[in-house]
Amino acid sequence: MDAVQDVARTLDLSPKQVRKLLDRFRVTRGKGFRLKDHDPADTAGHLITPQQAHHMLGAGVERLAELQEKLYAQDRWSVLCVFQAIDAAGKDGTIKHVMSGVNPAGVQVTSFKVPGPEELAHDFLWRSVRALPPRGRIGIFNRSHYEDVLVVRVHPEILERQRLPRELIGRKLWDQRLRAIAGFERYLARQGTVVLKFFLHLSKEEQKRRFLARLDEPDKHWKFSTADLAERDHWDAYQAAYQAAIAATAAPDAPWFVVPADNKWFTRLIVGAALIEALDKLDLRIPPLDAVAEARLAAARARLEAER
Ligand code: AMP
Ligand code: MG
Repeated sequence: MDAVQDVARTLDLSPKQVRKLLDRFRVTRGKGFRLKDHDPADTAGHLITPQQAHHMLGAGVERLAELQEKLYAQDRWSVLCVFQAIDAAGKDGTIKHVMSGVNPAGVQVTSFKVPGPEELAHDFLWRSVRALPPRGRIGIFNRSHYEDVLVVRVHPEILERQRLPRELIGRKLWDQRLRAIAGFERYLARQGTVVLKFFLHLSKEEQKRRFLARLDEPDKHWKFSTADLAERDHWDAYQAAYQAAIAATAAPDAPWFVVPADNKWFTRLIVGAALIEALDKLDLRIPPLDAVAEARLAAARARLEAER
């Protein structure tokens, strides 16, 4: 069964609907890419209702668990999912929900924070390399090497802390970094790491609503940081940096999904479907045993059965 058919069966949609759904948000070439062409409130023309989505997500989570087990058993491919977004777009919640069914032993989540002294003493890709998933595992990057062409680009004073030699800082710095990222991801793809990148695309109005909701509910106060509000003042600069990053690094073997983030149920559905499709394409199989291994199992059975 091909990947799209499996996603379709799992989500109770037709293969055509699934292909349309994912192709709508998948970006594999940067030429002409504009964030403005993507609506954060898009829910694919009411193809799916939130109630349906709830059920679909449940089925998707189960399917993902099966695929992840095979990925682990086969031990050839690894999967890297990069999550990038503006504050309050729902990265954490999406990761939590989509991965809720998979065996924690097969998944590693890395949250990239403001770099510390050891990280600042290295090149910007260093900490991402250290956090890459080994074969058989799914690695989730909650933020990533992209921060170095996003937050650092929006706040060039952060670049100072990276202590690059002066003569290496020129006008082309951001393009050079973007090209380095594209090369890095192509390298990973050729080493057997499936690279998927998700940009959760939130509208400025919805961010305001979510910030206010955090302020309204004492249980959500911990999620609110005044620093996030300060970043909101740089909204346009961030959108420009995201657009440039996506345009420069979208590739068939390292696609971006520009996922509408104004409706959480829809965000989760698209991320889940994209992951299932990507794993399905790998044609994962539990590796068959050779005759020697089979004989060893038969001997083990005989020994256990002979026990009194
Ligand atoms: P949070 O994800 O809310 O815990 O916040 C992490 C913070 O770390 C965000 O404000 C990011 O912009 C920031 N951050 C992550 N990577 C970098 C980086 N390479 N340079 C500067 N700040 C970063
Ligand atoms: Mg935050």
